[in-house]
Amino acid sequence: YTRKIKRQCNLPAETFDGSRVQVLSNIELVEEVAAVIDNGGEGVGLYRTEYAYLNRTDLPTEDELTDKYIDLAAIMAPRKVVFRTLDLGSDKFISTFGELNETNPAMGLRAIRFCLKNPQLFKVQLRAILRASAYGNVSMMFPMISGVKEVRQAKAWLAQAKAELRREGLDYDPNMPIGTMIELPAAVMIAEYLAHEVDFFSIGTNDLIQYSIGVDRTNHHVSYLYQPLHPATLRAIKMVVDAAHQAGIEVSLCGEVASDPFCVPILLGMGIDSLSMTPQAIPGIKRIIRQTNMHDCRKLLKDVLQCRTVSRINNLVMDNIFKHF
Ligand code: PEP
Ligand code: MG
Repeated sequence: YTRKIKRQCNLPAETFDGSRVQVLSNIELVEEVAAVIDNGGEGVGLYRTEYAYLNRTDLPTEDELTDKYIDLAAIMAPRKVVFRTLDLGSDKFISTFGELNETNPAMGLRAIRFCLKNPQLFKVQLRAILRASAYGNVSMMFPMISGVKEVRQAKAWLAQAKAELRREGLDYDPNMPIGTMIELPAAVMIAEYLAHEVDFFSIGTNDLIQYSIGVDRTNHHVSYLYQPLHPATLRAIKMVVDAAHQAGIEVSLCGEVASDPFCVPILLGMGIDSLSMTPQAIPGIKRIIRQTNMHDCRKLLKDVLQCRTVSRINNLVMDNIFKHF
């Protein structure tokens, strides 16, 4: 049965009634592209770039990063690759910068905050991603954005990196799409404003659930509260999808929720444009999408949005699954 699902993994993720969803993959290492293609991934929806910075005492150089990024862009072309700029800090430190000694690292100097505080390090990465954009279908997105100003500051550094490359006669794609991750409740609330600053959104539910329910994603004492099907989580995701579509931009989801069979029909009902997940989850999720129809997903979403508790939502979702599979 598993072999059959795998054999069909190159079929498009299209519902019975003809709606297409892009199924992309999350990767941490360039070497994972083989698994992405092998499992029917239509592109890389999240490349977690921080891994090249970990477990070493020096920083990667621009040329080292550029080589690696060009490999990835070129192998995946014409499929897209979404580079997420560095998400360091919190649980992921680089030794060069020493310990930050924060009481609350998850809310500390991490991700885009860390990059904006260390613009030289940020610019090396921006230049490397830009240089790779000349070799494939490259997009870039910023993690942990909490406000419009952060996006504008990040874009200003990007503009500076482009100007430098132009002066140096180095190629890049001038139309490379720029996106922001939506991982903080603040970003959800101002999604309408953020949508005017960028070309796409990618919802990071791993962090969004952590910050909106106030539950540490790594703390097993409170893991029972970490609920993707919490009414607050679902409303937050819906707000973001609606804000994106209102502004005419695409919205993807790249947290673990994207590969959760209980959540996918609800996300389809919201009209999510793409889902990005670990390569091994792709064949199964594509199959679920092919066995679903949009009309039922919209009905399920409508019912789910009326529920006030997680257990009610769980029951509805279970009933829906038994009806279809
Ligand atoms: C997320 O927060 O959902 C996400 C995709 O990013 P990461 O898991 O790397 O924090
Ligand atoms: Mg995250």
